[in-house]
Amino acid sequence: MKILVINAGSSSLKYQLIDMDGEKVLAKGNCERIGIDGKFTHKTFDGRVITKIIEMPNHTAAFDQVKNALISGEGKVIDSLSEVSAIGHRVVQGGSKYDRSVLITDEVIKDIDELSALAPLHNKAHVQGINAATAAFGKDVPQVAVFDTAFHQTMPPKAYMFGISYEYYEKYNVRRYGFHGTSHRYVSARCLELLGKPDGKGTRVITCHFGNGSSIAALKDGKVIDTTMGLTPLDGFMMGTRSGAVDPSVVLFLMEKEGLTTKEMDDVLNKKSGMYGISGVSSDDRDIVDAINAGNERAKLAWDMRAYQIIKYVGGYISALGGVDAIVFTAGIGENQPELRQEILESLSYLGAKVDYEKNQVHGQEAEITTPDSKIRAFVIPTNEELVIARDTMELISK
Ligand code: ADP
Repeated sequence: MKILVINAGSSSLKYQLIDMDGEKVLAKGNCERIGIDGKFTHKTFDGRVITKIIEMPNHTAAFDQVKNALISGEGKVIDSLSEVSAIGHRVVQGGSKYDRSVLITDEVIKDIDELSALAPLHNKAHVQGINAATAAFGKDVPQVAVFDTAFHQTMPPKAYMFGISYEYYEKYNVRRYGFHGTSHRYVSARCLELLGKPDGKGTRVITCHFGNGSSIAALKDGKVIDTTMGLTPLDGFMMGTRSGAVDPSVVLFLMEKEGLTTKEMDDVLNKKSGMYGISGVSSDDRDIVDAINAGNERAKLAWDMRAYQIIKYVGGYISALGGVDAIVFTAGIGENQPELRQEILESLSYLGAKVDYEKNQVHGQEAEITTPDSKIRAFVIPTNEELVIARDTMELISK
């Protein structure tokens, strides 16, 4: 069975065609700058790469590129579109209603659209992606929505409520939802296997997804009890360009002083802050490390601030969990940044965590990075959100 996994953004459409027989990626690619000028990249399992500068006025035009690349020309991997059994979509905001993946119906599309109020950039794009997929593949190919928020729905109210007037929760569903749920779910499940407790009973795990966007989740008995991202993916600690948590009055103060509109303030918090905003160098960790090595003090400050914020969250979650059995690092930075992992684990030496400095040098591969006598185990586990989406899709259409 072959499943097409779609991640539709406002101006991009990423895809992977996965053969579930062996869970092999046959092709993957990205339609970038949809509605602007357009760039299409398609890569096959055997190393063929196609890149085209081509105008894609909307998501339907982007889907045409994907379709054609899959079945014809140099990047062909299947003979006909009928080989695609189903389509799985990443959906950022599933609200309180969706605590698991679902088959997409008209009602689900309506819900995703209505939830745009909570994730304007993402959910609107997902609806466009779903409609474009229907136009390209027809109504008979089932589609599934996999929500970034779903895995965090096990949080108790004391963790997901904000300390503002209850009426805003009632009126607008303002609360913590959490994101990257598909990734936290994948790596925590793998961690529980490595701990020899696949059902999760009695376990306390902290999963750290460190990428351009970053979040941490605390899991008790395999279920999320708290996570750093909030109503939107802005909360938590400093990320590539996002601020993470700041004193809320900073926002009001700056809007007033600088005369910023809501949209401008949103840009400041989401695009001009974090590692980029503090260092003034880049949002990319590799550039930050280069700058630190070249003696850039603000890059070092950005690094230290982020590490300190993470250490505080991890420490807080250990208290919330009443201890911790394992910590997992994943995503671009989590999988590739030994120094950050070391700093976090060394902060837990008072609890008996012991880094295995040699094993911690690992990049992008699964490894246990603490010593056998460490009181806390730590793992690097490469994430695979697309595979989770494909597995959920297969499971739902097989029912
Ligand atoms: P996204 O949230 O966009 O999916 P990723 O998970 O790909 O982000 O993470 C991007 C971050 O990971 C960037 O800051 C990048 O510098 C860092 N990163 C990726 N690969 C490496 C590497 N080999 N070494 C160090 N950092 C890396």
